[in-house]
Amino acid sequence: MPLRCLICESKAVLSKDAASTAVLLIGTIDSFLLGVRQAHIQHSEVDSGIKHESLLMQLLDLIGESVSSATSGYTAMTTFARDVQKYQFGHHNYLCLRCGAQFDQYTDT
Ligand SMILES: [Zn+2]
Repeated sequence: MPLRCLICESKAVLSKDAASTAVLLIGTIDSFLLGVRQAHIQHSEVDSGIKHESLLMQLLDLIGESVSSATSGYTAMTTFARDVQKYQFGHHNYLCLRCGAQFDQYTDT
């Protein structure tokens, strides 16, 4: 049974854990893409000189630097996720995305 809001009965109910997961996922993707862009810029500057590396090696370097960028932002992302829990959910476990109600229990009827 899908969760329903106690006030408006909407199915657009988000759990505190799901919100944290979404924040961490979005933050990781954002950091990864930022790392791809920075690595691409660095490689473009290097490539203006001599090209000795194979494309596969360049791709692996790009992925490695992007993963490093994604993991380096983990502390900031967890802080952001904690703030979302604190300010959006308070001490409740569920948030209705339609009416903004916060609650712990839900009806399954
Ligand atoms: Zn609602």
